[in-house]
Amino acid sequence: TTRQLVMREKLASIGEIAAGVAHEINNPVAVIQGNLEVARALLGDAAAPARREFALIDEQTERISEIIFRLLQFARPDEYGTDTSSSLPEQIVDGCLPLVRHLMNRSKIEVVRCDRSTREVQMPRTELQQVLVNLIVNAIHAMPSGGTLTLTSADLDKDGRPGVALSVADTGVGMKPEVLARIFDPFFTTKAKDGTGLGLSISHMLVSRRGGDVAAESAPGVGSRFIVWLPGTKRPA
Ligand code: ADP
Repeated sequence: TTRQLVMREKLASIGEIAAGVAHEINNPVAVIQGNLEVARALLGDAAAPARREFALIDEQTERISEIIFRLLQFARPDEYGTDTSSSLPEQIVDGCLPLVRHLMNRSKIEVVRCDRSTREVQMPRTELQQVLVNLIVNAIHAMPSGGTLTLTSADLDKDGRPGVALSVADTGVGMKPEVLARIFDPFFTTKAKDGTGLGLSISHMLVSRRGGDVAAESAPGVGSRFIVWLPGTKRPA
């Protein structure tokens, strides 16, 4: 659709801008973060009355770093664009879990796995892992008081093309239709304090770039399911 096209162009130019300026922003942010630590240490107890202000500076510079990090992930074509190795879906899911385990320990989240794919996906492991981690982190955030995280992979043909469907489902807060309609828009977030609104838009772009797509379904109070479809081929014997 035209809207998707506009979004895609918007993201493509964001990528270009990011590639150009991210390093320039990264350095001053690192200097701010470093000096904040030093100032705190120098002040010692004298810093106590400004504890909240320090915390706010900390939090917001962290947020800048996060935005830059995400934009760079998307913008660096050499690191994330040229590796065309294919990979086994269940192994990629395996690789995601250690990266998110620390988030799951806080709330009671049960992980259910179902790996049935007999194919390998045509997307580099690092990239797909990045996408799945984004989806899993969102799922965990959606289940603050626990729930079930279901991760599946299965063969699925689409428009006559052989492929693999990977799904990430949660039993969390879910989304209203008006939220669901905007989740892939760059910078759309409902997480006022610590959201960048880039996780899903960048994931969507990464998957589209490999000839696949990402779909979502959700019901408020019931949960959400994200399905990543990618071209897939028979595994070597
Ligand atoms: P961020 O997580 O930084 O807000 P994303 O692009 O990853 O950015 O997600 C955009 C928005 O989509 C979130 O702010 C949230 O409202 C919604 N969302 C994404 N995943 C889920 C989920 N699993 N359950 C409920 N809402 C979700």
